[in-house]
Amino acid sequence: MDLSYGEAAEAFRKEVRGFIKAAWQPGELRGAELKDHIRAFRRAAIEQGYLYRSVPKRYGGSEQPVDVIRAQVIREEFGRARAPMEVGGNGVNMTVPTLLEKGTEEQRELFIRPTIEGDYIWGQGYSEPGSGSDLASVRTKAELSADGSKWIVNGQKIWTSQGMQATHMFMLVRTEPDAPKHDGITYLLMDLNQPGVTRRPIRQMTGEQGSHTFCEFFFDNAEAPVSWQVGERGQGWYVSRTTLKHERASIGSADGLGSQFRKLVELAQEMGRIGDPLVRDRLAEIEGRVLSHRYTSFRLFSCAAAGEDPGAVPLLMKLLLTEIGHDIALLAQDLIGEEGMTEPLGAGGRGPRGPRGPNKWLDQIMGSLGNSIAGGASNIQRNIIGERGLGLPRDLAMSAEK
Ligand SMILES: Cc1cc2nc3c(=O)[nH]c(=O)nc-3n(C[C@H](O)[C@H](O)[C@H](O)COP(=O)(O)OP(=O)(O)OC[C@H]3O[C@@H](n4cnc5c(N)ncnc54)[C@H](O)[C@@H]3O)c2cc1C
Repeated sequence: MDLSYGEAAEAFRKEVRGFIKAAWQPGELRGAELKDHIRAFRRAAIEQGYLYRSVPKRYGGSEQPVDVIRAQVIREEFGRARAPMEVGGNGVNMTVPTLLEKGTEEQRELFIRPTIEGDYIWGQGYSEPGSGSDLASVRTKAELSADGSKWIVNGQKIWTSQGMQATHMFMLVRTEPDAPKHDGITYLLMDLNQPGVTRRPIRQMTGEQGSHTFCEFFFDNAEAPVSWQVGERGQGWYVSRTTLKHERASIGSADGLGSQFRKLVELAQEMGRIGDPLVRDRLAEIEGRVLSHRYTSFRLFSCAAAGEDPGAVPLLMKLLLTEIGHDIALLAQDLIGEEGMTEPLGAGGRGPRGPRGPNKWLDQIMGSLGNSIAGGASNIQRNIIGERGLGLPRDLAMSAEK
């Protein structure tokens, strides 16, 4: 098996590495100075064609031809140097591709640049109390104003990640109450800073309740211009199915599992349990799954590079990733024992590094439960694998996919 990317990719790697070395010099910078440096670095990286490759130049992107190998080299080199990549979150991952594929010119001009520059932060307004897996049953309703220029929204959304920081929301609202449920939904963009919107943080079992955590939103005659509706009225379900195409290959997530596993081995050493045959047996079993996940990611990457259809394999990835992550966390919990359960949750402590600094293993255990629910619970993933991958009959109770 040849896992090298080839000479052209290695020459490109050298170029990327040289750029990062010259342009990313955060040194001891902190606060506003660090923020300015990050902004300037991202701008220079866009100029070079390294970031926002699928976003046209007129909206602030670098507009590069699709090239999964170059995109992977960029991810690897930026990751290695811990240099800032694209702004994360729903905005760049979901709003921007949706607008590029289904938005109007006005919407693209209004929203894409401030989103990729990190000024607009987007909440995903899909789930409601009673509408999670069965997302097509959303009840938050929108009606046209008397002059037909605005949507007036009433209802509730829940589990909005980054809800406290969000400036805007993309949401699914019911506009055709009498239509079949998948056909009565409209996809709407909304400015969250207005009197008709109330947000409340939700306290989690991890104890987290801050700017990064969940919110519930209440809409009481909140307004959105009709021109902020994405796609046709009543066709929002299909707009929400817009997926990320282009240069996505999931090696990144497999790398994340690899580093979690290495931390787990370090923990077993630290706790003096690395020689314990039962621990070694569990470590070996987990490592086998981590490696097979990694090689499956390479397989997807090769398919994407060759323009081949990967078949049902992508359907498995989220389920496997969350299950392996949970098993890593469970073994860590057993290694730490009671001490792990009494450590205060939150900042600092032993454990793998997360996006917000070092996480404790206990956070990791709780977080791995959340991962198995977010973005489609594991049972729903199994339904999708069964129906779309194996051709089994459809689950009639399940209407998340039409
Ligand atoms: C970390 C995290 C972040 C999230 N962020 C957001 C966000 O930003 N925006 C947003 O809108 N939502 C968000 N969510 C919500 C998430 O999308 C829902 O929690 C998820 O879709 C499940 O819905 P539910 O909680 O209503 O559970 P339910 O749908 O009630 O499911 C409960 C249980 O029943 C099972 N189940 C349900 N239906 C079936 C079926 N037909 N067959 C078999 N089993 C079934 C499920 O697998 C689950 O185990 C987030 C959730 C988490 C945990």
